[in-house]
Amino acid sequence: MSEQKPKLTPWQILNWIMQAPAAGLSVDRAEGLAAHVVQELEMYGLAIVPRSRYKERDETPPPPPMIYAGMSASLNDLVPGRVVQRWAIAAGETVSVEPPCCAVLGRRIVLPNEEGHEDDVVCQYDRLRYTVRLVDDGDEGLWAYLTVVGAITVTKARPPRRKATR
Ligand SMILES: [Zn+2]
Repeated sequence: MSEQKPKLTPWQILNWIMQAPAAGLSVDRAEGLAAHVVQELEMYGLAIVPRSRYKERDETPPPPPMIYAGMSASLNDLVPGRVVQRWAIAAGETVSVEPPCCAVLGRRIVLPNEEGHEDDVVCQYDRLRYTVRLVDDGDEGLWAYLTVVGAITVTKARPPRRKATR
């Protein structure tokens, strides 16, 4: 049998920290506050679980943070799974969106001016594939959310090989 440390509940640990003289709380106040913290976490769907269990459950790394509209992105930032928010500039029936990879060059992706529209787009210059979704911006316009899928591999159509003449 493996030796086990006495298990403390999150409440006991919090209570112990909060009862430290430096915290300046009465025992009652510390107990109440510790219970409150645990309750609040539960209310937000969060749980304090042993690290071993946490690892089993969550092996996939969190997705990279979103790049908001107005923030520039370099090609190195555009890793698969990255979401980039961009303004969709309306022009009647269509909107145009700046592909994050080509912002400096002013290239645009043109999509139907339609909330909820989803599309696969490829930047032919950078060979980057995105999925794009148009979302109501709450101000009669649309946001474009571009999710980087990854680089496309282009298979070049090779001219047929000539027969060796020598
Ligand atoms: Zn590009």
